[in-house]
Amino acid sequence: MKILLPFLLVFIIVLSFFNAQITNPFKEDFQGKHVTNFQQEYKESQIEIGMVGDVLLHSPLYEYSSFLPSFQEVEKEMQGVDFLLANQESIPAGTSFGLSGFPNFSSPAHIVRDLKAAGVDLLSCANNHTLDQKEAGLLAAIESMKANEMPYMGAYKSLEDQQTDRIFEVKDVRLGFLNYTYGLNGHRIPEGKEYLVNIIDREQMKQDIQALEEKVDVVVMSIHWGEEYALRNNETQKELAQWLADAGVDIIFGHHPHVVQPYEKISTSKGDTHVFYSLGNFFSAQQFDSTNIGGIARLQITKRVVQDKVMIRIENPSFIGTIVSKGEPFKVSLLEEANSQKNDWVQQHVFGE
Ligand SMILES: [Zn+2]
Repeated sequence: MKILLPFLLVFIIVLSFFNAQITNPFKEDFQGKHVTNFQQEYKESQIEIGMVGDVLLHSPLYEYSSFLPSFQEVEKEMQGVDFLLANQESIPAGTSFGLSGFPNFSSPAHIVRDLKAAGVDLLSCANNHTLDQKEAGLLAAIESMKANEMPYMGAYKSLEDQQTDRIFEVKDVRLGFLNYTYGLNGHRIPEGKEYLVNIIDREQMKQDIQALEEKVDVVVMSIHWGEEYALRNNETQKELAQWLADAGVDIIFGHHPHVVQPYEKISTSKGDTHVFYSLGNFFSAQQFDSTNIGGIARLQITKRVVQDKVMIRIENPSFIGTIVSKGEPFKVSLLEEANSQKNDWVQQHVFGE
């Protein structure tokens, strides 16, 4: 018995060590080698989610027969994100609506095809230009998204379409998406067809968030808000971000200001919410220096399943700055390569100290 005692003691220590790890799997020292004994009960997946800002086809962009040369320099970065969203701001109604720029945009359908080829996995369609070509233009755009097998959200062809959850499983991580806009530039939604575009409405959003939250690991909100050309988020955005965080949204990707605004982490009793207030323009022909700059906002999501417990960690926010150079054709380039000083400014602007 005396000989057995030290062994027993070691056994108990080892056991309690593993036990401690199971109950607290997010301890910094929780390394893979410790868990080989628990393969049956342990699983980890890690993905990266991201979004690019406004795709806004002014003249001459809507005349391009292909957009791939324009995205070529950032394609690797776009495809490197496991699940990438984009705000398709100008409605791809197609040539039958006559192509046009501001104020009532009409973009060619092949922008959808080329964004997909460049690495975009889901288009965010609720914005102030959704009804630029009225209901018919939106329905045509939805048809071209379907034809290109490009998932979309925020704008819908029917009530059933609107009520269909946008849930995507990426390496075992279940992502749920929602998308709303502050308004429609004065375009009216036809009576009885409120399903066409999601408008910011807290009561509706709360219901949508609660319903989605139960079905997914991460709730992601793409939201069209803020003040155009303002480099800082305003109080309305800040207050709404806090409200969304309290309601259960985990990630907020904002757009509309056409310039890049800061990132913020909001802590609530439910956990942290990551907010990119505005992603800037990704691809446009707007004229100001600041509207040529955009980027790919990214976050890492880790899902750990230990026995029957699921733990989600969202971390490492990053922003790959991009710039539109106005050559033949207009191109999206990496800001770090095009202008490293400006890139330093963007990093500082987005993340602060
Ligand atoms: Zn907008």
